[in-house]
Amino acid sequence: MARDYYGILGVSRGASDDEIKRAYRKLARQFHPDVNPDPEAQEKFKDINAAYEVLSDDRKRQIVDLGGDPLAPGGGGAGGPGGPGAGPFVGFQDIMDAFFGGATGAGRGPRPRTRPGADAILRLELDLQETAFGVEAPITVDTAVLCTTCSGAGTAAGTHLATCEACGGRGEVQSVQRTFLGQVVSARPCTVCQGHGTTIPQPCPTCAGDGRVRTRRSLTVKIPAGVEDGMRIRLAQQGEVGPGGGTAGDLYVEIHERPHDVFSRKGDDLHCRVTVPMTAAALGTRLTIKTLDSEEPVDVKPGTQPGSTLRLRARGVPHLRGTGRGDLYVHLDVRTPTKLDVDQERMLREFAKTRGEEVAELSKQGGFFSRMRDAFNGHG
Ligand SMILES: [Zn+2]
Ligand SMILES: [Zn+2]
Repeated sequence: MARDYYGILGVSRGASDDEIKRAYRKLARQFHPDVNPDPEAQEKFKDINAAYEVLSDDRKRQIVDLGGDPLAPGGGGAGGPGGPGAGPFVGFQDIMDAFFGGATGAGRGPRPRTRPGADAILRLELDLQETAFGVEAPITVDTAVLCTTCSGAGTAAGTHLATCEACGGRGEVQSVQRTFLGQVVSARPCTVCQGHGTTIPQPCPTCAGDGRVRTRRSLTVKIPAGVEDGMRIRLAQQGEVGPGGGTAGDLYVEIHERPHDVFSRKGDDLHCRVTVPMTAAALGTRLTIKTLDSEEPVDVKPGTQPGSTLRLRARGVPHLRGTGRGDLYVHLDVRTPTKLDVDQERMLREFAKTRGEEVAELSKQGGFFSRMRDAFNGHG
């Protein structure tokens, strides 16, 4: 049974070559796998190709018009082995190029020698003091910079670029692929000139033709107050100069904050721990807290419990590019005395007695096991 190739393309039996071509182009654009990922579209695309292969070929079309199928195995004698669409799989761009003369190809033609440079990144370690209040930090940058010998041209003094003989200056070499569409011309970058279309007969001795050299230079980067670990400061066009002296990329300075001995940072808030003796926690006291940039008197209320937190407003890190600061949280640890002399122990026991708190006396001779027994027997 012959397939309805006219129906697949949606053209009449009397369609002209032009009409067939137009119908195919329209459908190919719609169903090409590069544009339409639907699996059904893939099948449809194969059919469309097969139909075009047949109807664009006078001999095969004649077989169809006589009721045969030139693509069926042994069906029409023409063509040889292979089913519908068995020819080389032609890329969408190649099909379009075949119709439009390659004018639609992106990035065709010589590649410019001068290209933009890459961004660079540099790690900068800072203390909390510096991230909090800002700093002008000296940095050493190791990037490609413009070659001053040739100003980026890459050619030795008094010499010029030459047209590449391998590709005639086009930067690409064309190869011809024979497909059912006829000859499809595809282009590859020229390997002699790396696609530039030109060669450098006498490269600049300083940069060997690259137009740039690596160098180490010192800069000062202004770090604003309030930056955080992991933030990046962008220095426009301080990155790598591009090949052929192309515009430099940007330099990103990534902030790494060293851990601080006293303060830990959460956003713009700071946290620290302060230990007070049991007596001070009970009686209340006044502490002097050394913040990042000041000394603050802080009252510890009588009866303060372990784990209590005191908040010092606006003694944290200044907000980045804003007004105000985070807070400082002082976490209080209460220290219980570990060794009491005889007098201290007596006073503490009397103190407990006045509060009606029962404190059993641990046997001085009993040792660990008798203490354990007492605890289990409820003498604890
Ligand atoms: Zn140079
Ligand atoms: Zn070339």
